[in-house]
Amino acid sequence: MRLIFIGPPGSGKGTQAKRLSERLDLLHFATGDLLRDAIRNDTDAGRLASTYVDAGQLVPDHVVNEFVKEVFSLKQGPEHFVMDGYPRTIGQAKWFDKFLKQEHLDLDAVIFLSVADEEIIKRISARWSCSQPSCRTTYNTASKPPKKAGVCDACGSALSQREDDKAETVRKRLDIFHASYDELLEHYRKQGMLVEVPGVGNIEDIYRSIEAALKQSVQAKA
Ligand code: AMP
Repeated sequence: MRLIFIGPPGSGKGTQAKRLSERLDLLHFATGDLLRDAIRNDTDAGRLASTYVDAGQLVPDHVVNEFVKEVFSLKQGPEHFVMDGYPRTIGQAKWFDKFLKQEHLDLDAVIFLSVADEEIIKRISARWSCSQPSCRTTYNTASKPPKKAGVCDACGSALSQREDDKAETVRKRLDIFHASYDELLEHYRKQGMLVEVPGVGNIEDIYRSIEAALKQSVQAKA
């Protein structure tokens, strides 16, 4: 199965894409994680991407497309995958269409997880993690708060927020997302690929809705 997962930041797309990849045995391809790894490893591309990522802006298409090409070009390149956070612009989508065609890889569906903006801002600004690199325990002030505010239960270090999880940056990320995703969704709707699932409720229920919608979509195409 070859899938693209689209969802605003904080819609839960990462969690659901990971679950799909584990249960359907697909490669979970998250460009956000790849970019953060490159930044941590201080590679040329990482240095190029870091100013955009820290500011909550999209990394230029050619930089991200190059990351994707590199992974697909590996000897053990993915046959079955779920793209998480890519493509995010119409430019990336058109490039990826051509690339997949050239690699003889047909897409099965594009899943769109829809969640309202205010709900997203509430969810993301609740995310905190331990600032100690060897610990990094994560918390959520709504669903998994630390015993003492701002302090890690596991090691006692201060908690911090990812630069791009701060409320102001989240708003910016949502504006950017909205500016490009209407066109992106239309692109895949026209191809008959789009499967829309509401991303609200309990994680397993949302997963089941995704599975059911996917099954229906694949059967309709058969
Ligand atoms: P994510 O973890 O998917 O929310 O991505 C974190 C950050 O990485 C985004 O705010 C962007 O700066 C960057 N990023 C991830 N994927 C892409 C992409 N497909 N195109 C451009 N920038 C991206």
